[in-house]
Amino acid sequence: MSRGTLFIVAAPSGAGKTSLVKALVDSCPQILVSVSHTTRAARPGEREGVDYHFVTADQFQSMADRGAFLEHAEVFGNRYGTSQQWVEERLQAGEDVILEIDWQGGAQVRRLMPDAVSVFILPPSRETLEQRLQGRGQDDASVIAGRMAEAVSEMTHYVEFDYLVVNDCFETALGDLRSIIIARRLRLQVQREKHQQLLTQLLS
Ligand code: 5GP
Repeated sequence: MSRGTLFIVAAPSGAGKTSLVKALVDSCPQILVSVSHTTRAARPGEREGVDYHFVTADQFQSMADRGAFLEHAEVFGNRYGTSQQWVEERLQAGEDVILEIDWQGGAQVRRLMPDAVSVFILPPSRETLEQRLQGRGQDDASVIAGRMAEAVSEMTHYVEFDYLVVNDCFETALGDLRSIIIARRLRLQVQREKHQQLLTQLLS
């Protein structure tokens, strides 16, 4: 069985990354999203083990100390990390894995696994991003300005990624993401391993 591919998907908040990745996984076979560990508190509606593994700062640090993370980073004052063991087991089982992580985590993973495929998702305009970051309209202007500055800072790293997807029309962006996954699965190296018998038969 051929090893799965690791996909890194990053975006500023407000680009629609989580919804896109969820729709992708729901509509594409043999691809899973890694559930990260985080020290941040769960938001209303978030579930343990589904959205994140919510851990204390001490638990996170002891995982980091024993090398349990493939990558980890501090984002907006909270720590986030990807389980090394879970990702490795899934890849070895031939499944593709998506990491929804920030640019710092992306850089760490790329260094460790140069074969990883990385995608950066952009919002369609500054206005749309601003609207999305306003949320339910309950936050004051300085909070929104802070979120905007964080989003711009994340976006400056787009050049480090292999693919750039603009999330203007959701269905188009979803199709773009799906195409990236499919193209990767059709690469010669992957196909040659998968269709060894066919190739032997055809060439005999
Ligand atoms: P949120 O707290 O809004 O869910 O996520 C904040 C940021 O942390 C997002 O950019 C998200 O992609 C990033 N993030 C989530 N999980 C991980 C992780 O395991 N590693 C890293 N490096 N970033 C993560």
